[in-house]
Amino acid sequence: MNNTPINELKLKLPSLSVNEGACRAIVAAFCAQLDPNIEELADIKCAVSEAVTNCIVHAYGGRGGTIYITVGLYEGRAIRIEVRDRGCGIANVKEAMQPLFTTDHTGERSGMGFSVMESFMTRLRVHSTLSRGTRVTMWKQLA
Ligand code: ATP
Ligand code: MG
Repeated sequence: MNNTPINELKLKLPSLSVNEGACRAIVAAFCAQLDPNIEELADIKCAVSEAVTNCIVHAYGGRGGTIYITVGLYEGRAIRIEVRDRGCGIANVKEAMQPLFTTDHTGERSGMGFSVMESFMTRLRVHSTLSRGTRVTMWKQLA
């Protein structure tokens, strides 16, 4: 993948649960210019939704915060989506990425967010520093 995107979208929005749906729709609308098929678009929507929900629920845990999203479209029908927060960070990323691992004790979460991102996208990278924040980078190679 070439390092310079042919088109790029940058979003910065408050960590509010209404913005989960907004991010999902905006990112999908932007990616639509590469003419993805319905399945690819659904994959992207799900992955963005999981990443953004994690910022809202875990990173900022109901306190206010900002979510930063960058979407890059690249030569060769490749998409790079970065979802970043300046929240609490993750102590052990490897452990957090295991299927069914969750720090939620309310029974609302199933610990499948990272697994969904991993299976729906071509590649997933998670970088996190405690009390600094988390950066989730996902790539999707379109057919
Ligand atoms: P689900 O996504 O199925 O509702 P979940 O959010 O707990 O449940 P994952 O999305 O896989 O599952 O995340 C696993 C764990 O990683 C979370 O429980 C949380 O502890 C941590 N985590 C994920 N994203 C972040 C983030 N942006 N900031 C801080 N912690 C995070
Ligand atoms: Mg999650």
